[in-house]
Amino acid sequence: MNEIRVRFAPSPTGYLHIGGLRTALYNYLFARKEKGTFILRIEDTDKSRQVPGAIENLINTLNALGLDYDEGPGRESKFAPYIQSERLSLYKEHAQYLLDSGFAYPCFCSPETLTKMREEQQSKGEFVKYDRRCLSLTKSEIEQKIAAGEKYVIRLKMPDNRKFQFNDLIRGEVEMDSNQSDDQVLLKSDGFPTYHLAAVVDDHLMQISHIIRGEEWLSSTPKHIYLYECLGWETPKWVHLPLILNADRTKLSKRMNDVSVDSYLAKGYLKEALINFVALLGWHPSDDRELFTLDELCNAFSLERVNKAGAIFDLTKLDWMNGQYLHSLPVEDIAMRCKHLFLEKGYDLSDENKYQLAIAVARERCTLLNEIVDYCKMFYQPEELKNDDIKTLLAPEAQKVLAWFATNLPILSAWDTESIQNLVNSGIAELGIKGKKFYTPLRLALIHQQHGPELPSTFIILGKEESIKRLQQYLPS
Ligand code: GLU
Repeated sequence: MNEIRVRFAPSPTGYLHIGGLRTALYNYLFARKEKGTFILRIEDTDKSRQVPGAIENLINTLNALGLDYDEGPGRESKFAPYIQSERLSLYKEHAQYLLDSGFAYPCFCSPETLTKMREEQQSKGEFVKYDRRCLSLTKSEIEQKIAAGEKYVIRLKMPDNRKFQFNDLIRGEVEMDSNQSDDQVLLKSDGFPTYHLAAVVDDHLMQISHIIRGEEWLSSTPKHIYLYECLGWETPKWVHLPLILNADRTKLSKRMNDVSVDSYLAKGYLKEALINFVALLGWHPSDDRELFTLDELCNAFSLERVNKAGAIFDLTKLDWMNGQYLHSLPVEDIAMRCKHLFLEKGYDLSDENKYQLAIAVARERCTLLNEIVDYCKMFYQPEELKNDDIKTLLAPEAQKVLAWFATNLPILSAWDTESIQNLVNSGIAELGIKGKKFYTPLRLALIHQQHGPELPSTFIILGKEESIKRLQQYLPS
């Protein structure tokens, strides 16, 4: 069997989004499962749509998620370069060959002419496509126009009335009519290729075995197949991934969660959860298991188990999954990932033990990394107390509770959950105060809020000294 070589070929017209991540991930998983090669190719031939910083963002995001590519920018091999704008001469060469062999023709129509043509076709309810008016130009007319410096593009002459049949590994046999395809522009007047020419040339030269890409490219496949035929090349295998849909079955949009992967990470989603969640947007394992590490996905993945039907993006499920990882990854790991968020808030993390204890308690109650920081505010920089809360703390019964702890905490010999719980029980028994009247003043003094973690956990996180200090603040000196 030929070597498996697949590519993720984003256009740097924006940051990496959920759909792009799914395409990258499936290519990656397929390559790893089949012991093949995963390539990153940057398709930047439409300079007008290029977004500054997008290439770096794509590369950094793939790296941050652990989707290492084997070949691509910065990981050159004999197929380099991997950035299409650095390969322009190759596309020109192939466009010239297509022109010389009669598979393509020059078109001198101006953008205004084309717009008018499109509008006329639309108004008549016709299929919008180039009407081939430049196809009838004679050789000498073409030469004259070129000599006069007229700008032109090179168009592929699609065959008429031809059925293109191909096998898609997800959809099975697909048939499409050539009449539904326009005479595609291959090379623009500025010498840049369009996506169609550049992708076919590169997929062939880079020996890509499987084209795994979004369903939106399915309708372009006949053009691509025809280009392979004109160039005398064997076609790769076709794999078109299902659309990603909102819950109401409309196409996932920026408004509805298709925002950059970066922004999910910035909101505190974990890379493990994002990868796991996105893996299940179209693919499903043979059982109903839902949680997979990246390594496990590499073993379990197969194209046969990718669905044809659109995959629904369910944010509630992503949240659930994130919670699962937040609760199951090692505490030290979560602590490490949250550290910069805590430092940004100016929290004093000099006591590593306190920090890890706080994380251990917080992560049980949170879904996102960022929520952990908010949750832990009470341990580091508690909110200002409200006037009503101060009144509650100064009430005689509350004062008794605080004073009792301020006296008894220092003499407590052990500092663990059980000893503190015993102390709490003795406090309740000795003072004859219980329930809210007992707990609220303590929580208000310790963390400036009425609700919070179990008292023993709160004491342990704050530490003995800090707990006593916080209690004494509300006692007469
Ligand atoms: N550059 C195309 C895109 O960004 C890639 C399509 C393909 O994979 O062939 O969608």
